[in-house]
Amino acid sequence: MAKIIEVDDLAVNYNDAEPVFSGLNLTVKKGEFVSLVGSSGSGKSTILRAVADLIPTSHGCIRINSPQEKTRRPFAMVFQAANLMPWRTVYENVALGLEGLDLGKDLIHRRINSALNLVGLTEARGRWPYQLSGGQRQRIGIARALAVDPDILLMDEPFGALDAITRTTLQKELLRIWSETKKSILFVTHDIEEAVYLSDRVLLIGGQPAQIIEEYNISISRKLRREHSEFLDIVKDIRKGLQSSFDTTVIPIV
Ligand code: ADP
Ligand code: MG
Repeated sequence: MAKIIEVDDLAVNYNDAEPVFSGLNLTVKKGEFVSLVGSSGSGKSTILRAVADLIPTSHGCIRINSPQEKTRRPFAMVFQAANLMPWRTVYENVALGLEGLDLGKDLIHRRINSALNLVGLTEARGRWPYQLSGGQRQRIGIARALAVDPDILLMDEPFGALDAITRTTLQKELLRIWSETKKSILFVTHDIEEAVYLSDRVLLIGGQPAQIIEEYNISISRKLRREHSEFLDIVKDIRKGLQSSFDTTVIPIV
């Protein structure tokens, strides 16, 4: 399978400080679902920011193998908070990401409707953010990302602030959207069960500077993944790896 993200020997420093990571290598294949797990402060969000070209890198390179087109963006980000604009309706919030793309009115309308349809919120298009539940807001955040028709979704703990039941529902929905749209997903979570439930591969980040210290291939069929006896074994394995990564991660005191 072709690689869509290739991170090669990457280093990032914030303000001349010690590098958050150095010599980092990572790939995501086209259509793959990859999760990053690691202790807080290990550099997960920094990796997503670097891939999205939001911060400068100090060494190495990042290749995004997605064609440049005026009607789409190569990637879109989804954060823990949907950051909806309270003065815009649901429809107008989803339209936000489309500003600056070369789309006619009709195509904009179709893109928004299809994104709302994918997240099951077509009926809510005229509502205001305050009229939505936390889960619905997060769905709108995902719709806004899908509307730019990206090849890659970069998701930074998108379900981190949701209650357990809503979180499980959205995980299922994300898998459905992923299989319907064939997007490539790089997903950050601190919830190991979530990572194992969703992903083809889970990458464990740790150390100082951080590295990918372990890679777990999840080959259990997605249909009965949580019920499979191997599921909890992998979760335990990753938890053990995470625990030992604490021993090698020196959290700087600032
Ligand atoms: P994670 O997402 O795994 O919790 P981050 O990528 O947010 O970790 O942070 C990695 C390290 O970089 C931490 O030590 C954090 O304090 C530092 N860091 C993150 N953002 C900034 C910033 N804007 N300026 C300076 N240091 C930062
Ligand atoms: Mg983070």
